Amino acid sequence: MADKRDYYEVLGVSRDASDDDLKKAYRKLAVKFHPDKNPGDKTAEEKFKEVSEAYDVLSDADKRAAYDRYGHAAFAGGMGGPGGAGGGFHDPFDIFNQMFGGGGGGGIFETFFGGGGRQRRADGPQRGADLRYGLEISLEEAATGVEREIDYERLVSCKTCSGSGSASGSGKKTCRTCGGAGQVISSRGFFQIQQTCPDCQGSGEVVTDPCRTCRGAGLSKAPARVRVKIPAGIEDGSRLRSSGNGNAGAKGGPYGDLYVVVQVRQHELFEREGDDLHCQMPLSFTTAALGGEITVPTLGAKATVKVPAGTQGGTTFRLRGKGMKTLGSDHHGDLYVHVQIAVPTKLSAEQRAKLDDYAKSLGETTSPMEESFFEKAKKFFS
Ligand SMILES: [Zn+2]
Ligand SMILES: [Zn+2]
Repeated sequence: MADKRDYYEVLGVSRDASDDDLKKAYRKLAVKFHPDKNPGDKTAEEKFKEVSEAYDVLSDADKRAAYDRYGHAAFAGGMGGPGGAGGGFHDPFDIFNQMFGGGGGGGIFETFFGGGGRQRRADGPQRGADLRYGLEISLEEAATGVEREIDYERLVSCKTCSGSGSASGSGKKTCRTCGGAGQVISSRGFFQIQQTCPDCQGSGEVVTDPCRTCRGAGLSKAPARVRVKIPAGIEDGSRLRSSGNGNAGAKGGPYGDLYVVVQVRQHELFEREGDDLHCQMPLSFTTAALGGEITVPTLGAKATVKVPAGTQGGTTFRLRGKGMKTLGSDHHGDLYVHVQIAVPTKLSAEQRAKLDDYAKSLGETTSPMEESFFEKAKKFFS
């Protein structure tokens, strides 16, 4: 631990550096020492790990406070071994989780004073991460159901090393730090503290000849394709689970799942409300007055509606079963057509004259709607 450099020194910042300063310093160094930029350069690799570790601690307010107070001792038994950590950075605060986390009283003491013998390996195979894919479909497709092919990228077991992480396939050695136990015990004050081995992440083994494709991780990115069946009647925001089509798990763990989140695009004519559809439709004022038959758009074939003479603006016609299919049932919702009276804006001289004649012919005659309104208005003003 004596040869471990100060985290602030590693990042080249002062002890009162702001989060922003830290981030900037870290980014600069991480880019400089990134393994992708320095293939095969051991020194750069070590520097990269050192920088990542320093940033991991200092960017976390709790960890930084602990570090400021106790220095590296805050993470006793940690990653101080020669040559640095074997893999990624391990959370040194495992220990605090063990102290304050769920486990009952007895468990805590077992963890702390656990004999020193070989312990069960803390980190066995881990399940791979779930993935999320946003898929946009049209309202028509939501109504009928649709099948789609999805292309995406996911982590799979590395082909080069068959997931072992070792270039030769046999380059695995018992971890020297923990002797294969996956756990290390260190003294802190008069406590004996046991935590996951930082060099092997608890697996008890380290890869001595990391595979170049996956850098020892055993996982690599690969394109994937799945067919998704979207059922008729699906709602906007629904999630479909494609089991086992997520990322591969570490250390031979099972695959995660793929979640397809379906977004139903807004339609130009129809607004959806559950299984029902609503449509605003203009109706010429002559048809409204005289009545007639109008053609109404639906998601399927066009439909006709009989408009009675004297239809008022705002009248709603209901077309049974012309809405969306109900998910998982044969039932269909309804289509509501809300009519708006379209008043002509361009009249020829002849049309204007005719409308004038019509207006004059009305005299005192009014529509029932007007009568009712003027009744109320009279009461209001008297
Ligand atoms: Zn590999
Ligand atoms: Zn180990």
